Amino acid sequence: MAEPTNNQPTADTKSPLIAQSCEEIRAVASADELQTIQQIDALAETQDISLPFLRRLLEMPKDNAVKYLHAKAREAVEAVYGDKIFLRGLVEITSFCRNNCNYCGIRRSNNTLPRYRMTFDEIMACCQDGYKYGMRTFVLQGGEDMWWTDERLGDLVSQIRAEYPDCAITLSMGERSRESYQRLFDLGANRYLLRHETADEDHYHYLHPAEMSFQNRMQCLQALKEIGYQVGCGFMVGSPGQTPETIFKDLQFIRSFRPQMVGIGPFVATQHTPFADQPNGSVETTLRLLSTIRLLHPHVLLPSSTALGSLHPLGRELGVLAGANVLMPNLSPVENREKYNIYDNKICLGDGIEQCSDCLQLRMGSTGRRIVVERGDFVG
Ligand code: SAM
Repeated sequence: MAEPTNNQPTADTKSPLIAQSCEEIRAVASADELQTIQQIDALAETQDISLPFLRRLLEMPKDNAVKYLHAKAREAVEAVYGDKIFLRGLVEITSFCRNNCNYCGIRRSNNTLPRYRMTFDEIMACCQDGYKYGMRTFVLQGGEDMWWTDERLGDLVSQIRAEYPDCAITLSMGERSRESYQRLFDLGANRYLLRHETADEDHYHYLHPAEMSFQNRMQCLQALKEIGYQVGCGFMVGSPGQTPETIFKDLQFIRSFRPQMVGIGPFVATQHTPFADQPNGSVETTLRLLSTIRLLHPHVLLPSSTALGSLHPLGRELGVLAGANVLMPNLSPVENREKYNIYDNKICLGDGIEQCSDCLQLRMGSTGRRIVVERGDFVG
């Protein structure tokens, strides 16, 4: 086993996390809690939620009804995907970005950040490492870096497709033209992650500079779906200006768009951004929303985000116990990690994939789930 580091599991993280079943929680719930439990059952049954009930889920004390919400979400994910946890190997291919999102550490105006762009060979070496450690999906992520033309990105996708025919290729390179998305799909990319960030237009404009367009973001998501990608949308939890009403819109958007993946994680305040002094998003709210999303859309692939792990030592385990079924270990060279500083205090900055792999196996063991060597496609 690799040398332990700060992010490696401690004795605590190795012991099993207690996760009661729905039955067990029901048996000890109070009359009030049972009322909420009934509403959670109705949410799962109808796959719909009202704004007042969302508010209640977000605001209620951490009681048996919250435990039930998570247990119900675990039942839902296990009914579709069993005890499997899918890995996505993340390669952060460039930290250059033309955008200036108010929350993001790699925003264009952050001139304190040394920028990097990985070479083809470096990226291929990351895929090789990832494959060796059981990853069957590679996620190429970056800022919106125009050096990555369709031609260059297309060449990269073709090369990965040729060398790893059994793997899924996920792109997360921001907003591009429909033609670009089509070309990359034709060359072998299968999935695209593009968080919608918020489904409320006013909120979108609060989070982004005037030159960025809510309509364009939504059109990109639509185009990706029409082309045939497995698409991931998502949002930060606790982003400045977010309210139960904006979250309600996010959930309704997810219900109607039916993405194959939803990425949510807490907002993390980041230096050298306009939101540097804002409070971080809440881990507890993120967990409740993971469960809610799982119940609204039981087949969705739901990562337990690195941001969750960055704000809580057991964040990723708790995410899995709230209904998540995907982890995204970082395959990027360790020397790049600090430069891809989308948010502060990110975990695993110093862990190579060998350490990361051991660590995640142990962590997931404590949740009773199993990391598998599979592409982990959406089961529709
Ligand atoms: N450029 C691509 C895009 O726009 O989709 C991918 C890279 S972008 C940095 C990936 C995601 O990081 C964003 O969609 C955003 O939700 C998240 N992110 C950025 N800043 C963050 C912060 N301060 N806290 C938590 N998540 C953040």
